[in-house]
Amino acid sequence: MNPQVLLIIGPTAVGKSSLLERALRDFPQLVDIVTYTTRPMRAGEEEGRPYHFVTEEKFKELVSGDFFVEWAHVHGKMYGTPRDQIKRAGSEGRPVIIDIDVQGAKALMREFRDVVTVFLIPPSVDALRQRFVKRGITSDEDLERRLQSAQVEMSQASYFDHVLINDNFELTYVLLRKIVENLLKNQ
Ligand code: 5GP
Repeated sequence: MNPQVLLIIGPTAVGKSSLLERALRDFPQLVDIVTYTTRPMRAGEEEGRPYHFVTEEKFKELVSGDFFVEWAHVHGKMYGTPRDQIKRAGSEGRPVIIDIDVQGAKALMREFRDVVTVFLIPPSVDALRQRFVKRGITSDEDLERRLQSAQVEMSQASYFDHVLINDNFELTYVLLRKIVENLLKNQ
C-alpha cells in the first residue's frame, strides 16, 4: 500500500527536528523515518537518533543496492532516505514523517502520490545565523556557506503545500498539528 508521506523541509537549524519530535509525541501513529548519513555524530546524538550514521563506503554500498528512495550531498556529506522503512509503514497503513532538504523533498514528491509538504523558514537571515552559532557553527566560511545554501533553499518555498515561518515554536506547532490532523483525516 502507498504510504501517506509528510515532509518537513527547510534549511538546517530552522527548527525542523524539534517540531518533528513534538508531532511524533502527539501522534503515535506517525512513523519517523530515520535517514542515513555519512556526517559525524554531534554531541547528544547517538546511532539511530536522529540518523543512522554510516561510513562513506557503507553508504555507497547501500546506494548500489538500491537501498535509498533518494539520496543527496548536503554540506559535503551524503544523506539518504531508506526504502524499507517507508514500505513497512505503508504495509501497516501508517503515515510517515521525514525531515529532509529541498532536493530530497522534490525527489520524494516524484516518487510518492500521497505527499504533504511543510516548508519551514526562519523569521530572518539574522535569526538563522544566530541558530547556526548556537549549534557551534562559528567559522566564517562555514557560516557563509550554510547561509547561502539556506537562501537558495528558501527561494524554493513556492514548490511546497504549506510555508510556516518558525518564529515561535508553540505557534508554529499549532499550525503543524492542524496539518497532521488533516492528513490523518484523509487516511
Ligand atoms: P543535519 O546534518 O544538520 O542534521 O542535516 C542537514 C540537512 O540534511 C537537513 O536539511 C536535513 O533535512 C537534510 N536531510 C536529512 N536526511 C536527509 C535525507 O535522507 N535526504 C536528503 N536529501 N536530505 C536529508
